[in-house]
Amino acid sequence: MIKSENRKSLLFLIGILLFILLVFSFISWRNKELNILEVSFLDVGQGDATLISYLGKYQVLIDGGPSGKRLLQELGKQMPTMDKKIEIVILTHPDFDHLAGLIDVARSYEIGIFLDNGQKADTEIFKELENVLAKEEIKKNLLFEGSRISIGRYLNFEIFNPDEISGNKKNRNENSIVLKMVFGNNTFLFTGDATSKVEGDMINKLIDLDVDWLKIGHHGSKHSSSQEFLEKTSPRFAIISVGAKNGYKHPATEVIERIKKQKITLFRTDKLGTIEVFCRVPTKECATKNN
Ligand SMILES: [Zn+2]
Repeated sequence: MIKSENRKSLLFLIGILLFILLVFSFISWRNKELNILEVSFLDVGQGDATLISYLGKYQVLIDGGPSGKRLLQELGKQMPTMDKKIEIVILTHPDFDHLAGLIDVARSYEIGIFLDNGQKADTEIFKELENVLAKEEIKKNLLFEGSRISIGRYLNFEIFNPDEISGNKKNRNENSIVLKMVFGNNTFLFTGDATSKVEGDMINKLIDLDVDWLKIGHHGSKHSSSQEFLEKTSPRFAIISVGAKNGYKHPATEVIERIKKQKITLFRTDKLGTIEVFCRVPTKECATKNN
C-alpha cells in the first residue's frame, strides 16, 4: 500500500511530467509552423482575391473580390484564429471585382497598410472604399514599377507595373499592379487584370518574368496571356480566378488552349473552389492539395 504522502508526491511527479510533455509538444507544433508560406487563391466568384500567409503571422491580401460577405467567409477559413490583423492589403486596380470585398475587410480587420496604384475610379463603390479607409484611419501608400516589399529574409515582392505613379493610363486594366513574389527558390507572378499590352511592355523591358506559379491575368480573358507571355513566364502551374458561368465567358477557350500548348498545369477556382498552395521551406518546391 502506498502511503498517502507518497501518493501525493507520485501524483505531483506525474503532473510535472505531463506539463513538460505539453510544453515540448507545443514547441514542436510551433516549429512545424516555422517558415511555412501559404498562398490561397480564394474562391470569391467572378473576381480576384489572394491571401498570402507567412509564418502563420503575417498576411498579405491581394484584391478582395466582388463581395464582402464571401470574402469574410473565405478569410474566416484561412486566417489563424485570433488573428484580426492583415499586415498588407494590395488593390491591383480599382475595378469592382477586385475592390468591393475590401470594404468589409477594412471594417472587420485591422489593416497595417493599404497599397494601390493611385488611380481613382469614378464609381460609388470606389468612393465607399475611400471613405472606409479614411474613417478607419488606415495608412496608405503607392506601388509602382521598382517598388519592393520584404517580409523577413525569405519573402520578397517586386513590382513590375504600372510604370508611372497615379496611373496616367485611362484603361484601368493596363494600370494593374503586377508583382512577383519570391520565396527562396519559389516564384509567383500576380498580374491583376493586366492586358497583353502590359505583358508586351514588361517583356520589352527585359524584366525577369520567369516564374513557377502564374496567376493568369484578367480571369482568363482573351486580351491577356499572350503566347509570348506564357513562354517568357514559363510557369509550371497556373491559376485562373473566375466565377462559374460568368457573363464575360471567362476564361476564353483560346487562353485555355495556349496554357495546354505550354504544358502548364492549370487550377481554376470555378472548378476547385479555393486553391491552397503550401511552401514548407524556401529550398523546397511549393505544392498544392489540388494536384
Ligand atoms: Zn477583374
